[in-house]
Order: sequence, then C-alpha cells, then structure tokens
Amino acid sequence: MAVDWSEHRFSGGALALDVANTVVLRIDPARRFDRFEKAEEVERFATAASRFCADELGGAVLTVAKPEAAKATVIRLREATDSLFRETAESGRLDADRVAELLGACSQAMQGGGTFTCQGIASTGALELEPAVAMSALRLLQPDRLSRMRICANCGWLFVDRSRNSSRIWCDMAVCGNRRKAARHYNRLKNAEVIYESVAD
Ligand SMILES: [Zn+2]
Repeated sequence: MAVDWSEHRFSGGALALDVANTVVLRIDPARRFDRFEKAEEVERFATAASRFCADELGGAVLTVAKPEAAKATVIRLREATDSLFRETAESGRLDADRVAELLGACSQAMQGGGTFTCQGIASTGALELEPAVAMSALRLLQPDRLSRMRICANCGWLFVDRSRNSSRIWCDMAVCGNRRKAARHYNRLKNAEVIYESVAD
C-alpha cells in the first residue's frame, strides 16, 4: 500500500529528521517498519517534502533522478542522522565516530548533486533530494538545533523543539499528544472497572 505522506510525517522540524523518521517504531524492533522499502516511496516523499519543508528548502522543488541509487544514499544518510542525533538527544553529547559517519554520508550524497550550488538551489528552482538531505543534516550540527533535539515521548521520532520554553515532548501534539491522552483515559477506565469488579466480588 502506498504511503500517505501527510503533514504529520513532516513533524521533525528539519528535512533530515523527517527522513530519519521514515523508520516507524524504530525503538520497537518487533514492530518497526521502513517507509522507504520501495524506491518509489523515496520519490513520493521528495514531492511531499517540497511542500511541507518549503521554508527550509527556500521553495525549491526536490527531485529524484535515479530512485534506486537515491534510496541507497538517503538510507545511509538516514541511519547516520538517526544514530548521531538520537544519541545527542539522550546524552547531550556529540559522539565523534557518529559525526564522522554522518559527514561521510553527507559527502557521498553531495557528490551526485549536479544541481547543487552555494545557494543550494539551481536556477531551475530544483534541488536533488540527496544533497538537500545532506545539507539539512549538516545544519542540525548548529548548537541551537543540537540543544533542542528531542525524542517524541509517544512514537520515538526525532524533532527539533522550537517551543519558546523548550518544553515540547511530542513530535506532533495533534497526533502523539492526543494518542497519549486517549491511552491514559482508557487506562483510567480500565482501572475503574477493576476496582468496581473487586468491589462487586
Ligand atoms: Zn510522536
């Protein structure tokens, strides 16, 4: 079934984190799955990201020249991004080996980017997905992003917390915040029933 690349899937606050979050339930090996399993989904992601990451991309349209090659490059970037910034969100430190792996993945991704320029956007207004993700990942190394790197308390996605008092705990309040509230409500009802049953005995 085709992935619905809805706005929620772009809750990371940076293109590179939205790429990292294409592995669903990464924290639960038994249930995790990969939205980039088919190369065509990488292309469809690029189309949706052009819209939902328009601010970061300066309005550029992301393109994918060779889907299979792009998939391999983006997945290497994705794993390096997740590994480095998840560790940073947890420990507040930058692991040198993980930084090296990310820089290597970024270097590889930028070599194929024929349309890449200093401005990041060619005169055509198009930008290849691989260098765009690499540049997004490199920007995450800025201190104001590193200090705001978070892991969603519900789904485990990475996101940059841009809230004024740095207190956001959900990637997307409308989805993960509400799911947690619903789960708490359900548990309260369940506990109430247990109490009621024990009284009835
Ligand atoms: Zn979440």
